[in-house]
Amino acid sequence: MSSAGQVTVTFAGSGDAFGSGGRYQACIHLRGPGDGAPVLLDCGATSLTALRRCGLDPGEIAAVFVSHLHGDHFGGIPFLILNAQFAGRASPLTVVGPPGTARRLAELMECMFPGSWRARRRFRVDVAELPPGEAVTAAGVRAAAFPADHPSGDDGPALALRLTLGATVIGYTGDTAWTDALVEVAAGADLLIAEAYYRAKDVPYHLRLADLVAHAGRLASRRIVLTHMSADMLAHLDQVRFETARDGLVLHV
Ligand SMILES: [Zn+2]
Ligand SMILES: [Zn+2]
Repeated sequence: MSSAGQVTVTFAGSGDAFGSGGRYQACIHLRGPGDGAPVLLDCGATSLTALRRCGLDPGEIAAVFVSHLHGDHFGGIPFLILNAQFAGRASPLTVVGPPGTARRLAELMECMFPGSWRARRRFRVDVAELPPGEAVTAAGVRAAAFPADHPSGDDGPALALRLTLGATVIGYTGDTAWTDALVEVAAGADLLIAEAYYRAKDVPYHLRLADLVAHAGRLASRRIVLTHMSADMLAHLDQVRFETARDGLVLHV
């Protein structure tokens, strides 16, 4: 199968926050058609290791699209920025995330590496805050934001995202309890990347396999791949009728 005109999706990190199954935290690498630089969909704390395990260069990343401001989804950005700084990067890096991203990222960097946010760098770090209902284009990728149900800070809601790369549309639930907004995120998408934290256990503010089964008829994407799975899910993958991600999984969509 030719990859021309397609998007290469690499699940560098397909895990939850707690390393279940030995998996890295959320880090999905997207390389679009053409010569454009790749982007990340979420960048959990373990992402630099995850990318290098896949042979992917963190220095190439032109933009990071952040679903929400939890450590397993944006905690890797300080390492991405500092690594680029020490490698002499010159091209700008754009971080797109929910309202509050600029402040929370600055605080995170200053907490982890004091002085690092204010340090002089050869490249710009541009932060674009994206409220639900709005869209922005960064590094040639259009991101439309939808409201997720997953508290992650006072100043901004969590997002579900719908990314357009060339002719390919990728929906991403991020972390969220079931919400009808996911119907819009999935509609007509080539791929929906969906959290499936537990099978049926009632964990607040997270998607369960049971929710996806119950609403499967409304999720009108061409393909659904599950990610962000707990040990409970990983122990029962043989019962799961959806495709599931693993670290290092590469898809062409
Ligand atoms: Zn979260
Ligand atoms: Zn998470």
